[in-house]
Amino acid sequence: MTDFKHCHLILECAKCSVLNYMDPFSFWNFTGKTKCAGCDTVYAVTYSNGQKMKGPDAAEGKPDRLPGFAQTKDFKTQYTTPDKVSPPAYARDPANKHGPTYKNVRGNLVAAGKLTAADLQGSRARFIVEGTPYKPSS
Ligand SMILES: [Zn+2]
Repeated sequence: MTDFKHCHLILECAKCSVLNYMDPFSFWNFTGKTKCAGCDTVYAVTYSNGQKMKGPDAAEGKPDRLPGFAQTKDFKTQYTTPDKVSPPAYARDPANKHGPTYKNVRGNLVAAGKLTAADLQGSRARFIVEGTPYKPSS
């Protein structure tokens, strides 16, 4: 079987060999505890700028963050329930398919009006609007 232990953002469980995908957006700069979706073993990990700096080391207690997705090595079993993996981060509510909608002077609906900072939550454009420079965690 292929060995994934050298992969930075794939946590291969030492006990059950389940591949836990550390979702890049939430684990890019992360220090804390996560748990294996297969056997619920808690691991302490440290990631900086998408690189594994420390761990996975066995730990105790509640996990700070769950993996984004997990599956077995034969790709036949996937873990997608909220108690095993974290829900995806959406830029907006999935039920809301596009940005704000307005009516023009004729009363017709016009899609894609001017966006506010709240509309850009989780998006690259928000990062630019806020003007917060990128800083890797040390
Ligand atoms: Zn496991």
